[in-house]
Amino acid sequence: MSCIFCRIVDGDLPSRTVYESDEALAFLDANPLTAGHTLVVPRDHYETVGDLPPGTAGAVFEAVSAVTPRVEAAVDADATTVAVNNGEAAGQEVPHTHVHIVPRFEGDGNGPIHRLFGSRPALSDEELDAVAAAIRSEH
Ligand code: 5GP
Ligand code: ZN
Repeated sequence: MSCIFCRIVDGDLPSRTVYESDEALAFLDANPLTAGHTLVVPRDHYETVGDLPPGTAGAVFEAVSAVTPRVEAAVDADATTVAVNNGEAAGQEVPHTHVHIVPRFEGDGNGPIHRLFGSRPALSDEELDAVAAAIRSEH
């Protein structure tokens, strides 16, 4: 098995595990953006958020909710950025869904995730209505 996060879940690769549940695991990122940067993964291998079965999706976010305040307290953070690089085009490098919990500090200057995008498109009401309708029609 080549997936590094599956190997961590199976105990074949070492990790600094900080939280475990039946369906999810949290461990420190090996190359942290700030001290305390934590990753939450489902124990089973699913590549993207949309691949997660409902129960697993719930278990992952339950773990995120449980771990986030503990991370903040442990490193005395003022806040956290909780985010997923969902798919290769979005910067996902490890193809096993993982939620980043990154401690944030007043004045750290890193900004909100909106800063990933240089500008916002000017979309008309009609275009927004069409996008909403397209999303609703997908199931
Ligand atoms: P992605 O770009 O896929 O959203 O993020 C992958 C994250 O996994 C990166 O932040 C990277 O530092 C982390 N990472 C990569 N390999 C390992 C590893 O073997 N162990 C741990 N703990 N983290 C890793
Ligand atoms: Zn995996």
